[in-house]
Amino acid sequence: KKNGRGRYQVFAGDMDDLLLRKRKVESELRNALNGGTGIKLVYQPIFAADGKTILGAEALIRWAHEVHGALPPAQFIAIAEERGMIGQLGKWVLHEACRFAIGTRLPWVAVNVSPLQLRDFGFAEQVASILTETGLAPERLQIEITESVLLESSNATRMALAALRQSGVGIVLDDFGTGYSSLSYLRRHAIDKLKIDRSFVRLLDDGDGSSSAIVRALIDLAVALKVEVTAEGVETEEQKVQLVGMGCHQLQGYLLSPPLETTQLLTLPGLSSGD
Ligand code: C2E
Ligand code: CA
Ligand code: CA
Ligand code: CA
Repeated sequence: KKNGRGRYQVFAGDMDDLLLRKRKVESELRNALNGGTGIKLVYQPIFAADGKTILGAEALIRWAHEVHGALPPAQFIAIAEERGMIGQLGKWVLHEACRFAIGTRLPWVAVNVSPLQLRDFGFAEQVASILTETGLAPERLQIEITESVLLESSNATRMALAALRQSGVGIVLDDFGTGYSSLSYLRRHAIDKLKIDRSFVRLLDDGDGSSSAIVRALIDLAVALKVEVTAEGVETEEQKVQLVGMGCHQLQGYLLSPPLETTQLLTLPGLSSGD
């Protein structure tokens, strides 16, 4: 019994710890957002099937923490979602990405949007005013949403997606294949592009025919729906060759380019507005 109680206390201690850590991260993130310090966006180019032509870039958030160093975005995004800060964070990301893109020759920039942002009734208006403010054409912005957004499909979400698409903003279904989207969801929601999750791309060089059959099916589905298809997480030449052979339109991954600092990105041929 003593032991059991001891264990419980250790567990309770861990819980307090976790909560404290989260609170700390929360307040630090708040400061970073308000002061605009420590957080930034990096950009990973997305290529045509030739592996050379840059079609656009995905904005990915980075936060260099004073003490803990670089924190994985998935981690602090989850905290921002939990603590009601994702609206502010998401707005900063959208504004920053549009402001950056307007000063470049990037054909488009893709921005990850949390399902919680989309649930907010003002989201489409927020995007519209950021586009007006920065002067970026709607066609040069793509927003990446996940399948869970289509599943819950509230009125607010549905209307926001329709309004955005109507205005010319591209809608990309991210992490495609990992969620529950069915043909009917895809048909009901107007999507411009499907992005195959890297967990599937990774299967391509294990030499197993059934793995590549899955990727082939995902690409065929995109083609049948007449939407573009991107593969993310392309790390090997073998994956690239197979994907292109299957008719994949766009490629993204370390093989072609890692996420880049803005200055690095602008050294790529044709991307700087001064070129
Ligand atoms: P995601 O949207 O699926 O983004 C792709 C992730 O894969 C990025 O991780 C990217 O750096 C990484 N990646 C790119 N190429 C390769 C590759 O060849 N191999 C491997 N192993 N990884 C590759 P990152 O930057 O750590 O972002 C993780 C996730 O955090 C993103 O997944 C996205 O869901 C979320 N995220 C990042 N930035 C934002 C943001 O500004 N807003 C929101 N809401 N979410 C964001
Ligand atoms: Ca993404
Ligand atoms: Ca993914
Ligand atoms: Ca994602």
